[in-house]
Amino acid sequence: METIRQPRVMREIAIKEKKNGKSIGFVPTMGALHEGHMSLVRTARAENDIVVASIFVNPTQFSPGEDFACYPRSLSDDLEKLEGLADFVFLPEKENMYPPDFSTRVEVEGLSENMCGRFRPGHFRGVATVVLKLFNMVQPSRAYFGQKDYQQSAVIKKLVRDLDLTLEVLVCPTVRESDGLALSSRNSYLQPEERNAAPALYRALQSGAKALKDGQRDAGLVGGIMRQSLSEEPLVRQVQYIAAFDADTLEELEIIKKNSVVLAGAVIVGTTRLIDNLLVNDLK
Ligand code: AMP
Repeated sequence: METIRQPRVMREIAIKEKKNGKSIGFVPTMGALHEGHMSLVRTARAENDIVVASIFVNPTQFSPGEDFACYPRSLSDDLEKLEGLADFVFLPEKENMYPPDFSTRVEVEGLSENMCGRFRPGHFRGVATVVLKLFNMVQPSRAYFGQKDYQQSAVIKKLVRDLDLTLEVLVCPTVRESDGLALSSRNSYLQPEERNAAPALYRALQSGAKALKDGQRDAGLVGGIMRQSLSEEPLVRQVQYIAAFDADTLEELEIIKKNSVVLAGAVIVGTTRLIDNLLVNDLK
């Protein structure tokens, strides 16, 4: 496994591998790697000749007052986890990604605005911009994202389509703890009693999915069931949103007419923001 810091070097290696007919699977991350990240890396390993994982805590996707400064960083553990699975670990420096005169932003309109976009202004602009830069540096044949960040994967798929990028975006299932909590680097912020309370979000989404499967098609009522479920956990300090959304447009639904719906929510437990979602398919 080789560690690369310079974007120029990363791109030269990628172009050479592609010229030799090798496919490149790419897993962009912010580090503090857990089984969720590793499931993406293993899928990339199985489906490509070359695997590149990047670790970059991207400042432009954090709003002022968010957790950029204290975001968990564990580079030596991360490298140990990637050893034997990734061929290259790309660790760009902030200064190389964003030189002082950097002034271009990528805005995926529509999909970026609802759900988390309402509570994290500019977040998806930061994500789309850095991911497009990383794609240009790594030249992937396939890029792997987690369903846990459903809106992010929708934004990236749209970016690839709108800008005619020639790579495939693959979305892998959410990896969870045994009590249902979606793995997240931010779970390390949770105090023990908050950690016990955190699966409330998954339980709420499951109660919504059950209502849908039982035939409920009034999205307002499904939302009510999920909010009621969350209200049973006092350590859920704030519910930013929890609702049913169109799985393609991410618009909040009133009446559920399609056979595929995403139930998604964002809550604050203690001081930690948690997100999760369930894709409910095959609704009759
Ligand atoms: P992050 O380091 O949080 O930017 O995440 C990097 C990638 O890992 C993103 O595509 C995430 O969606 C994905 N990911 C994070 N947590 C999970 C999880 N629990 N299951 C599957 N994928 C995940």
